[in-house]
Amino acid sequence: MEHRSLGNTGLSVSILGYGASPLGGVFASIDEREGIRAVHTALDAGINYIDVAPYYGLTRAETVLGQALSGIPRERYFLATKVGRYGENLFDFSPQRIERSIDESLTRLGVEYVDLLQCHDIEFTDLRYIIETTLPALQRLRERGKFRFIGITGLPLKIFQQVLARSEADTILSYCRYTLADSSLADLAPTLAERGIGIINASPLAMGLLSLRGAPAWHPADAAVKNACRKAAELCAARGYPIEKLAVQFAIRNRAIHTTLVGTASPAHIANNIQWASEPIDEELLAEVLALLEPIHNRTWIQGRTENN
Ligand code: NAD
Repeated sequence: MEHRSLGNTGLSVSILGYGASPLGGVFASIDEREGIRAVHTALDAGINYIDVAPYYGLTRAETVLGQALSGIPRERYFLATKVGRYGENLFDFSPQRIERSIDESLTRLGVEYVDLLQCHDIEFTDLRYIIETTLPALQRLRERGKFRFIGITGLPLKIFQQVLARSEADTILSYCRYTLADSSLADLAPTLAERGIGIINASPLAMGLLSLRGAPAWHPADAAVKNACRKAAELCAARGYPIEKLAVQFAIRNRAIHTTLVGTASPAHIANNIQWASEPIDEELLAEVLALLEPIHNRTWIQGRTENN
């Protein structure tokens, strides 16, 4: 598996990373033993970057991931988790809560440190608080050695510009913004690269929109986006080329993006994703799919506070 440097962190990360949110049963109910096998399949095939959060399955994803990682040498993987989001509408970015949160995550994951600690979905909160209180607290807490780097995550790209204009972070995690349907993260990438900020692209399947199974009921995209993506999935299926394959291949080939996180609790799916990452993309089909999705290109949804969108 090809690797890229995660900004200035010095971490050499696999271009495909493992997103552990499905281990929390976020997309569908899961068999935990299968989920654990999915993690092992990912590591055995050369994925060295794993992303999780206390929020996923309300701590279940971290717990199941901890079981999967038990006994695996710590130097075999980079591990990222998050602080600040604890429920659909439960956020707490205070220094007291994040300090406790780190210890809780380390216990669930069964590790002594994580490589990256990220403020989770900051568009739901006052960005001034993140800049003036949370990030400075994380800088101080970092000295205790429980995490190495600090990141911020969220959906609207504006949040990254606003926070980074007044503060420092090692990485950003953006999701659903570098896919077949929305490539707006590419516009921000040069500015981030100039500052040596690591770029993590999550949800190349746009949280299931770009899959034959389709988006889960809770998916926030509007009907036009869902319809266009469904038509694209059907077009790919008719050509015998899964849209999931095209979507993964499209995301990883942009060198400005350091790693792309794809989530699944299925060993077969993660094995497919890894296999597809090593194959050339079908350029003709890609052009057709991009043309089909053009009417909804970069059409996103509002998330979090209005002023952060
Ligand atoms: P995704 O785009 O990777 O889609 C996941 C869905 O696609 C699941 O239903 C999964 O079963 C399915 N899938 C995956 N591979 C497949 C395959 N080969 N064939 C068929 N279906 C397949 O979305 P995601 O899981 O939301 O994103 C990946 C990871 O990124 C998450 O697990 C999480 O770790 C991270 N993430 C972080 C944030 C954040 O910090 N705010 C937001 C979104 C995602």
